[in-house]
Amino acid sequence: HAKGLGKARHEVFDLSMHTRAVALLQLENDLRRALDSQEFQLYYQPIVSLISGKISGFEALLRWYHPQRGVVSPGEFILVAEETRLIIPMGWWMMRSACRQIHEWHETFPTNPPLTVSVNLSNQQFKQPDLIERIREILQETQLDPRSLKLEITEGVIMENAESAVAILAELKKLEIQLYIDDFGTGYSSLSRLHTFPTDALKIDRAFVSRMTEDEGNEAIVQTILILASHLGMDVIAEGIETSEQLNLLRALQCEYGQGYFFSKPIDSMAATLLIESQPKW
Ligand code: C2E
Ligand code: MG
Ligand code: MG
Ligand code: MG
Repeated sequence: HAKGLGKARHEVFDLSMHTRAVALLQLENDLRRALDSQEFQLYYQPIVSLISGKISGFEALLRWYHPQRGVVSPGEFILVAEETRLIIPMGWWMMRSACRQIHEWHETFPTNPPLTVSVNLSNQQFKQPDLIERIREILQETQLDPRSLKLEITEGVIMENAESAVAILAELKKLEIQLYIDDFGTGYSSLSRLHTFPTDALKIDRAFVSRMTEDEGNEAIVQTILILASHLGMDVIAEGIETSEQLNLLRALQCEYGQGYFFSKPIDSMAATLLIESQPKW
């Protein structure tokens, strides 16, 4: 039995077919049990309007409260959850929880515009034939205004489903949901197709943001993404802002939104409620 999931995942990819199959099965059983016994919890990380300095919404991020191992981050289990397709029920659970939570915050903290929630969509979920129907159901069940829901989809997921992606994105837009391209700049998206995607915003990957104040090349990339987005009529969210230098530079470049440890790490819903209550302004 592997000691940590990080180690388990490492083994999954390194060892023989047999060992790999056994390790996968172990993690799959663990994940299945975790789903049944409600060991998953959503954390929320604020997304800040760099114009007003106020919280505009939150990204919902999955955490696993493992009875023995403590809090486990998605980097250690998302790949296996994808591979075993357990990400599908997990994904629906998390979308429902996130929509319910943000609707609750709308009632407690009515703001104009209302707080938004960003939910990451995995490749397996994106491929589900009943994707649109399920989302429609969740919106109905939670009574959330679809305009407050943002789906984050990576370039990789869009390009892997190149044939169907534009049609699926268009269906999602018909529901009035906002669509973000996540980790922009790290994938293999082709610029020639970007303008055909009915997406509302690009999230600049934190790899560029973290190095932009030390490296002119990275600053130029960030600047170029901002110009590109503005020509395509899209907003930009900068991920992984950790310092006031990065924040100042992004503001100077007129980036609309930011997210990162400088504002807050992902926190549980109780801490997020307290944060909203304190009405921070950066
Ligand atoms: P992501 O969607 O790009 O999420 C941002 C990740 O960057 C989060 O890691 C967040 O904690 C981290 N982060 C945010 N600000 C900073 C910063 O200033 N510095 C640094 N060093 N890191 C920062 P997390 O929560 O571990 O999630 C990792 C990835 O796992 C996510 O990347 C997303 O692709 C995936 N993921 C997380 N939750 C879900 C989920 O519910 N469903 C799906 N399908 N994927 C998820
Ligand atoms: Mg994301
Ligand atoms: Mg991201
Ligand atoms: Mg990222």
